[in-house]
Amino acid sequence: MEVVSWSIGRLGGCAKLPGVSGPRAVDFRPTSEDIAALPVDPLRLLVSACIAGVACANDGDSRTQPGTLVELLSLATVEVTRYCPEHEAFGSPRELCDIVGGDGFDVLDGLARVLTASGVDWTAGLVDSAARMVELARRSRVDVAILMDTSAACGSQVIYDGDRSLGRRVPGQGVCAAALARAGVWIISHRDFRSLEVLRSRVDPSHEPDPDALDYPETEWYRRLFPSR
Ligand code: SF4
Repeated sequence: MEVVSWSIGRLGGCAKLPGVSGPRAVDFRPTSEDIAALPVDPLRLLVSACIAGVACANDGDSRTQPGTLVELLSLATVEVTRYCPEHEAFGSPRELCDIVGGDGFDVLDGLARVLTASGVDWTAGLVDSAARMVELARRSRVDVAILMDTSAACGSQVIYDGDRSLGRRVPGQGVCAAALARAGVWIISHRDFRSLEVLRSRVDPSHEPDPDALDYPETEWYRRLFPSR
Protein backbone atom coordinates (compact mmCIF):
# COMPACT_ATOMS: atom_id res chain seq x y z
CA MET A 1 0.00 0.00 0.00
CA GLU A 2 1.18 3.49 -0.77
CA VAL A 3 1.88 5.53 2.36
CA VAL A 4 1.41 9.22 1.78
CA SER A 5 2.69 12.12 3.84
CA TRP A 6 0.21 14.00 5.99
CA SER A 7 -0.01 16.59 8.73
CA ILE A 8 -2.25 16.87 11.77
CA GLY A 9 -5.31 18.98 11.19
CA ARG A 10 -9.05 18.59 11.03
CA LEU A 11 -10.24 16.85 7.93
CA GLY A 12 -13.75 18.30 7.79
CA GLY A 13 -14.25 20.47 4.75
CA CYS A 14 -10.62 20.53 3.59
CA ALA A 15 -8.71 18.54 1.02
CA LYS A 16 -6.01 17.16 3.30
CA LEU A 17 -4.36 14.02 1.97
CA PRO A 18 -4.96 11.23 4.47
CA GLY A 19 -2.32 8.60 5.09
CA VAL A 20 -1.60 5.82 7.49
CA SER A 21 1.90 6.71 8.71
CA GLY A 22 2.52 9.16 11.53
CA PRO A 23 2.56 9.54 15.32
CA ARG A 24 0.39 7.63 17.77
CA ALA A 25 -0.22 10.53 20.17
CA VAL A 26 -3.05 12.15 18.25
CA ASP A 27 -5.76 14.15 20.02
CA PHE A 28 -8.89 12.96 18.25
CA ARG A 29 -11.65 13.44 20.86
CA PRO A 30 -13.53 16.71 20.35
CA THR A 31 -14.33 18.85 23.39
CA SER A 32 -17.74 20.46 23.86
CA GLU A 33 -16.21 23.65 22.45
CA ASP A 34 -14.98 21.78 19.38
CA ILE A 35 -18.46 20.33 18.87
CA ALA A 36 -20.02 23.78 19.27
CA ALA A 37 -17.84 24.99 16.38
CA LEU A 38 -18.88 22.24 13.96
CA PRO A 39 -20.94 23.12 10.88
CA VAL A 40 -24.60 22.12 10.85
CA ASP A 41 -25.51 22.74 7.24
CA PRO A 42 -25.21 19.79 7.09
CA LEU A 43 -23.22 18.03 9.78
CA ARG A 44 -21.37 15.22 8.04
CA LEU A 45 -20.85 12.05 10.06
CA LEU A 46 -18.92 8.89 9.28
CA VAL A 47 -20.46 6.09 11.35
CA SER A 48 -19.54 2.47 12.01
CA ALA A 49 -22.19 0.85 9.83
CA CYS A 50 -23.24 -1.73 12.44
CA ILE A 51 -24.50 1.00 14.81
CA ALA A 52 -26.27 2.77 11.96
CA GLY A 53 -28.70 0.07 10.92
CA VAL A 54 -26.53 -2.12 8.69
CA ALA A 55 -26.40 -5.89 9.30
CA CYS A 56 -22.63 -6.15 9.00
CA ALA A 57 -21.42 -7.38 12.40
CA ASN A 58 -19.48 -10.63 12.65
CA ASP A 59 -22.71 -12.60 13.21
CA GLY A 60 -24.42 -10.94 10.24
CA ASP A 61 -26.61 -8.79 12.46
CA SER A 62 -26.57 -5.08 13.30
CA ARG A 63 -25.66 -3.46 16.63
CA THR A 64 -28.06 -0.53 16.42
CA GLN A 65 -29.59 0.49 19.75
CA PRO A 66 -32.34 3.06 20.23
CA GLY A 67 -31.23 6.31 21.81
CA THR A 68 -29.42 9.55 21.12
CA LEU A 69 -27.29 8.18 18.27
CA VAL A 70 -30.24 6.85 16.27
CA GLU A 71 -32.14 10.11 16.85
CA LEU A 72 -29.10 12.13 15.75
CA LEU A 73 -28.67 10.13 12.55
CA SER A 74 -32.32 10.64 11.62
CA LEU A 75 -32.14 14.44 11.64
CA ALA A 76 -32.58 16.12 8.26
CA THR A 77 -29.47 18.27 8.61
CA VAL A 78 -27.21 15.29 9.30
CA GLU A 79 -25.47 13.60 6.38
CA VAL A 80 -24.50 10.03 7.29
CA THR A 81 -21.80 7.95 5.63
CA ARG A 82 -21.88 4.34 6.83
CA TYR A 83 -18.86 2.08 6.53
CA CYS A 84 -17.93 -1.33 7.91
CA PRO A 85 -14.24 -1.97 7.33
CA GLU A 86 -14.40 -5.65 8.30
CA HIS A 87 -17.39 -6.32 6.05
CA GLU A 88 -15.67 -4.57 3.16
CA ALA A 89 -12.59 -6.73 3.59
CA PHE A 90 -13.99 -10.06 4.75
CA GLY A 91 -17.77 -10.07 4.25
CA SER A 92 -20.48 -11.04 6.76
CA PRO A 93 -20.88 -13.21 8.70
CA ARG A 94 -17.22 -13.71 9.52
CA GLU A 95 -14.88 -14.62 12.35
CA LEU A 96 -14.13 -12.28 15.22
CA CYS A 97 -10.70 -10.71 15.07
CA ASP A 98 -8.43 -8.91 17.51
CA ILE A 99 -5.09 -7.13 17.57
CA VAL A 100 -2.13 -9.13 18.81
CA GLY A 101 1.03 -7.40 20.01
CA GLY A 102 -0.13 -3.80 20.25
CA ASP A 103 -2.88 -1.44 19.12
CA GLY A 104 -4.13 -0.04 15.83
CA PHE A 105 -1.23 2.40 15.52
CA ASP A 106 1.17 -0.50 15.91
CA VAL A 107 -0.68 -2.44 13.20
CA LEU A 108 -0.39 0.54 10.82
CA ASP A 109 3.31 0.72 11.60
CA GLY A 110 3.87 -2.99 10.99
CA LEU A 111 4.52 -3.77 14.67
CA ALA A 112 1.38 -5.76 15.51
CA ARG A 113 -1.03 -8.07 13.70
CA VAL A 114 -4.75 -8.67 13.39
CA LEU A 115 -5.66 -12.31 13.88
CA THR A 116 -9.00 -14.07 13.73
CA ALA A 117 -10.19 -16.35 16.51
CA SER A 118 -8.88 -19.32 14.51
CA GLY A 119 -5.52 -17.65 13.89
CA VAL A 120 -5.92 -16.37 10.31
CA ASP A 121 -3.89 -13.21 9.66
CA TRP A 122 -6.22 -10.38 8.58
CA THR A 123 -3.66 -7.61 8.99
CA ALA A 124 -3.24 -6.63 5.34
CA GLY A 125 -6.98 -6.70 4.61
CA LEU A 126 -7.83 -4.51 7.57
CA VAL A 127 -5.06 -2.00 6.85
CA ASP A 128 -6.33 -1.71 3.26
CA SER A 129 -9.87 -1.24 4.55
CA ALA A 130 -8.67 1.44 6.99
CA ALA A 131 -7.07 3.34 4.12
CA ARG A 132 -10.35 3.14 2.19
CA MET A 133 -12.22 4.43 5.24
CA VAL A 134 -9.87 7.41 5.48
CA GLU A 135 -10.32 8.12 1.77
CA LEU A 136 -14.10 7.90 2.20
CA ALA A 137 -13.89 10.36 5.10
CA ARG A 138 -11.94 12.75 2.90
CA ARG A 139 -14.30 12.43 -0.06
CA SER A 140 -17.38 12.79 2.14
CA ARG A 141 -15.79 15.76 3.96
CA VAL A 142 -16.82 14.31 7.31
CA ASP A 143 -16.79 16.46 10.40
CA VAL A 144 -16.88 13.67 12.99
CA ALA A 145 -16.63 9.88 13.01
CA ILE A 146 -18.79 7.94 15.48
CA LEU A 147 -17.29 4.51 15.98
CA MET A 148 -18.31 1.29 17.72
CA ASP A 149 -15.96 0.60 20.59
CA THR A 150 -13.84 -2.49 21.51
CA SER A 151 -13.62 -3.52 17.83
CA ALA A 152 -10.16 -4.27 16.41
CA ALA A 153 -11.14 -2.03 13.51
CA CYS A 154 -13.42 0.67 14.94
CA GLY A 155 -12.54 0.74 18.67
CA SER A 156 -11.46 4.26 19.57
CA GLN A 157 -11.01 4.02 23.34
CA VAL A 158 -10.99 0.37 24.39
CA ILE A 159 -9.77 -2.69 22.50
CA TYR A 160 -8.87 -6.24 23.42
CA ASP A 161 -5.26 -7.17 24.04
CA GLY A 162 -5.05 -10.28 21.91
CA ASP A 163 -7.78 -12.90 21.65
CA ARG A 164 -10.91 -11.45 23.25
CA SER A 165 -11.84 -14.80 24.72
CA LEU A 166 -9.05 -14.14 27.23
CA GLY A 167 -10.95 -11.02 28.35
CA ARG A 168 -7.99 -8.60 28.49
CA ARG A 169 -9.36 -5.15 27.67
CA VAL A 170 -6.96 -2.23 27.33
CA PRO A 171 -7.28 1.47 26.53
CA GLY A 172 -6.38 1.90 22.88
CA GLN A 173 -7.46 2.32 19.29
CA GLY A 174 -8.34 -0.16 16.59
CA VAL A 175 -6.78 -0.04 13.14
CA CYS A 176 -9.36 2.20 11.45
CA ALA A 177 -9.71 4.53 14.44
CA ALA A 178 -5.93 4.98 14.44
CA ALA A 179 -5.87 5.71 10.69
CA LEU A 180 -8.73 8.22 11.00
CA ALA A 181 -7.08 9.86 14.01
CA ARG A 182 -3.84 10.27 12.07
CA ALA A 183 -5.79 11.79 9.20
CA GLY A 184 -7.17 14.46 11.54
CA VAL A 185 -10.73 13.21 11.95
CA TRP A 186 -12.55 13.91 15.21
CA ILE A 187 -13.73 10.62 16.72
CA ILE A 188 -16.49 9.92 19.24
CA SER A 189 -17.15 6.45 20.61
CA HIS A 190 -20.71 5.15 20.50
CA ARG A 191 -20.39 5.07 24.31
CA ASP A 192 -19.51 8.77 24.62
CA PHE A 193 -23.06 9.59 25.61
CA ARG A 194 -22.36 13.13 26.86
CA SER A 195 -20.62 14.07 23.60
CA LEU A 196 -23.45 12.52 21.59
CA GLU A 197 -25.94 14.59 23.57
CA VAL A 198 -23.92 17.77 22.90
CA LEU A 199 -23.60 16.85 19.23
CA ARG A 200 -27.33 16.32 18.91
CA SER A 201 -28.12 19.65 20.57
CA ARG A 202 -25.65 21.31 18.15
CA VAL A 203 -27.73 20.07 15.22
CA ASP A 204 -31.10 20.34 16.97
CA PRO A 205 -31.13 23.40 19.30
CA SER A 206 -34.50 22.29 20.70
CA HIS A 207 -32.80 19.24 22.21
CA GLU A 208 -31.85 19.63 25.87
CA PRO A 209 -28.71 17.57 26.56
CA ASP A 210 -29.18 14.99 29.30
CA PRO A 211 -27.19 16.42 32.26
CA ASP A 212 -26.52 12.89 33.58
CA ALA A 213 -25.02 11.55 30.36
CA LEU A 214 -21.37 10.52 30.71
CA ASP A 215 -18.56 10.02 28.25
CA TYR A 216 -16.95 6.60 28.21
CA PRO A 217 -13.88 7.43 30.37
CA GLU A 218 -16.18 8.97 33.00
CA THR A 219 -18.24 5.84 33.53
CA GLU A 220 -17.85 3.63 36.58
CA TRP A 221 -17.19 0.65 34.30
CA TYR A 222 -14.22 2.36 32.60
CA ARG A 223 -12.78 3.70 35.84
CA ARG A 224 -13.01 0.33 37.52
CA LEU A 225 -11.29 -1.33 34.58
CA PHE A 226 -8.58 1.30 34.17
CA PRO A 227 -8.11 2.92 37.63
CA SER A 228 -4.83 4.60 36.70
CA ARG A 229 -6.27 6.50 33.72
S1 SF4 B 1 -17.43 -2.30 14.74
FE1 SF4 B 1 -16.71 -1.60 12.73
S2 SF4 B 1 -15.82 -3.43 11.78
FE2 SF4 B 1 -17.08 -4.15 13.49
S3 SF4 B 1 -19.08 -4.58 12.58
FE3 SF4 B 1 -19.14 -2.47 13.32
S4 SF4 B 1 -18.60 -1.23 11.54
FE4 SF4 B 1 -17.97 -3.33 11.11
